[in-house]
Amino acid sequence: MAEQEFGPLRSREARKPWPECPDIVIYRCGHCGRLYQGLGYSMPAQAPACCGSPMEQLKPLRLEDVSPEITVDYQIVGGYNQNAVQVFWEAKQPEDSPEWILLKTFTGSYIKYVTAKKRPPVVFALADEDAYVYCDNSPCLQCIFRCKRGFMIYLYIKTKGLLEIPLEKMSSYWQS
Ligand SMILES: [Zn+2]
Ligand SMILES: [Zn+2]
Repeated sequence: MAEQEFGPLRSREARKPWPECPDIVIYRCGHCGRLYQGLGYSMPAQAPACCGSPMEQLKPLRLEDVSPEITVDYQIVGGYNQNAVQVFWEAKQPEDSPEWILLKTFTGSYIKYVTAKKRPPVVFALADEDAYVYCDNSPCLQCIFRCKRGFMIYLYIKTKGLLEIPLEKMSSYWQS
């Protein structure tokens, strides 16, 4: 009986899930710099207001837009019973370090704030549908079927804006 131990985080999905949650919508006030997140399935046509004027909806940048000042990479670690996404970053200037990192998954999102003394990686532990993987290797070799395809990493960098990195690489060269 003890042979087949199912961990509490393990996915019970028979096939790879696909995101079934709203897109990440972040607004920034051009006056005070505050951020607001839209959480609904449908967003109002008009942006919400702060400091008396409509806020700007942040249009996500790609890695190539901020390269080579900022580099970001990720790795999927763990197998069936527990797995996680590790996010690594490197900023040439300290002011280009991320303020927070958000992982969008199949079911929603996780957000972690990055303190000044935090060293990479930031680790997002996954459970339930989000823990679906194709292989039991650790680290997952980002199996050619791309078990976490549909996930998205967002980094908010005050000096640059919102950065978006899809989890779609097919093999990991991180260690090499
Ligand atoms: Zn404001
Ligand atoms: Zn895999």
